Amino acid sequence: MKKQFKTESKKMLDMMINSVYTHKEIFLRELISNASDAIDKRYFRSLTDAALAPEGGYSIRIDVDKDAKTLTITDNGCGMTADELENNLGTIAKSGSGEFKTANNEGEGTDKIDIIGQFGVGFYSAFMVCDKIEVYSRAVGETYANKWESSGADGFTVTPCDYEETGSKMVLYIKEDTENDKYSEYLDTYKIKSLIKKYSDYIRYPIMMDVEKQRRIDEENADENAEPKYEKYIETETLNSMVPLWHRSPSDITAEEYNSFYQDKFYDFTEPAKVIHFKAEGTVSFEALLYIPKKAPMNYYNKSFEKGLQLYSSGVMITEKCESLLPDHFSFVRGLVDSPDLKLNISRETLQYDHQLKVIAKNIEKKIKTELKKLLEQDRDTYEEFFKEFGLQLKYGIYTSYGMNKDVLEDLLLYKSSREKKYVTLKEYTTLMSEEQKNIYYACAESVDAADMLPQTDAVKGKGYEVLYFTEEVDEFTISMLREYDGKQFMNVCAENLDILTEDEKNAINEINEKSKDMLDSMKEAIGEGVTSVKFTSTLNEHPVCLSSEGGISTEMEKVLSKMPGADSEFKPKAEIVLEINSNHPIADKLRSLYESDKDKLADYAQILYAQARLISGLSIANPTELSNKICSIML
Ligand code: ADP
Repeated sequence: MKKQFKTESKKMLDMMINSVYTHKEIFLRELISNASDAIDKRYFRSLTDAALAPEGGYSIRIDVDKDAKTLTITDNGCGMTADELENNLGTIAKSGSGEFKTANNEGEGTDKIDIIGQFGVGFYSAFMVCDKIEVYSRAVGETYANKWESSGADGFTVTPCDYEETGSKMVLYIKEDTENDKYSEYLDTYKIKSLIKKYSDYIRYPIMMDVEKQRRIDEENADENAEPKYEKYIETETLNSMVPLWHRSPSDITAEEYNSFYQDKFYDFTEPAKVIHFKAEGTVSFEALLYIPKKAPMNYYNKSFEKGLQLYSSGVMITEKCESLLPDHFSFVRGLVDSPDLKLNISRETLQYDHQLKVIAKNIEKKIKTELKKLLEQDRDTYEEFFKEFGLQLKYGIYTSYGMNKDVLEDLLLYKSSREKKYVTLKEYTTLMSEEQKNIYYACAESVDAADMLPQTDAVKGKGYEVLYFTEEVDEFTISMLREYDGKQFMNVCAENLDILTEDEKNAINEINEKSKDMLDSMKEAIGEGVTSVKFTSTLNEHPVCLSSEGGISTEMEKVLSKMPGADSEFKPKAEIVLEINSNHPIADKLRSLYESDKDKLADYAQILYAQARLISGLSIANPTELSNKICSIML
């Protein structure tokens, strides 16, 4: 007699089939997980009764019959009695495995059983791809077997049957292909193999399948002209790797094993720069195997790049790219996380609570930071190579979080500096600062050489201070979020209030400026809106002019901001620019004499000097033709 499913089952089954799962192919993962759970249960019971263990060891088999269009999954696990077939497979949302887990995991102990099933719905996912399921099952220790059969929502039957093995055999009658769904692919060896690799590679029992192969049967070089002869033969293959690499102890894993796992799994031709393999115990226990790649993928710095780690629950893959496990500033990290503690959503494609992920993500962030710092301290060359690829991401990390990630990231930054034009950390910079030096100086330009050649860099270097060279657009924005490091302020060498003069020197230059005020004002007038003022300075060594900026926006920042979308608006942020003229340069005397003798020429000189200073700062000139004519008229 046909029995009806318990629960509001028709509706429920329909919902299951059509809406719980995003990917139909997941049915295979569910049935394999059930088989693995069943074997776990038999194994668990055999611990107290050795006679219950199978003779040839535990395994799961997959068989395909293309003519009958059936896919069969057989396990030699605990099997089910007639009652269990009725209760476990006849009641949707009843999980025999869930109950088993609760019953056997009570109390403290390290040998808790790690079972995958918990919702009692996975089995029904098979109805997404098949019209009918037959389950042949003999419970461990029993002499009789039963067959459960159902074609979906109209109910099921359980009848005695002949089945010689202990365990269960699930026969799926695969649906006919439709326009949208090619169900027949689930009868294809290659497809099955790839699904097992993808979802069930780390099921700890062998998943076996007979695979048809071909071999040559004539002597290979027998007769050049004769057609080579082949024969087909069947070989039983184990489709899964079983022991996940990350479950093994790091001391037993060779560098080659780590590397080839990375290259196979994450499709990278190059070996990783660093492997991070660790285990965490706590509110959420997990294992993580993380890799820092050597090279950034082509699309790393554009929108199409997707960050994320693979997420496993007890060796079964749940999500291919779990975004929330990685903060943006470490988005370059590849790898996986496996946790037995995850509360999965009913489809086991997502999680019920994201606080578990948050706990894991926090741990992972901390670990990556520690490992990067270690790399920086212990293997500087590798770290510098890493930084060339991904340093920009760390800088963005500080900038886009408004400095909130400062503590995580500031000690991972590197900048080339004036000392040896090599990379230094902020810590290295500050530990070498002399006592009288108050600020951390930096110079911005397109390249290290250009920054090194700035007149103002020369001035600061002349004081014996080291200068950091900022060559990336984000650099100055990043340090504007950092504000300070180790109590020291950052200062652009092109800042107008650059604090490198002694009190006496300051007084002297102030006096000169005071005396020349009228002349300097007239020069400002001749230049127009481009500058806020013109001043003499005594810090430029042999260089005649430079531009400096007052306030929070430097000329470099203005350059970057003017390229951003919306920069044409009236509220365009502008640097307040000061033209500085070297008071010790012969040009200073020339200007003074022109102020006495030829004010028009002084105006031309002012404009030329301003244009020169703009060129030195890497800024464009509004009217190059006019400038060229002016220079020529002076030359003649
Ligand atoms: P879950 O695996 O989440 O518990 P399922 O709907 O997949 O839910 O399975 C329901 C129950 O049926 C399982 O909990 C288990 O008790 C039983 N079951 C399913 N497959 C097998 C199997 N191959 N061998 C033994 N019992 C099984």
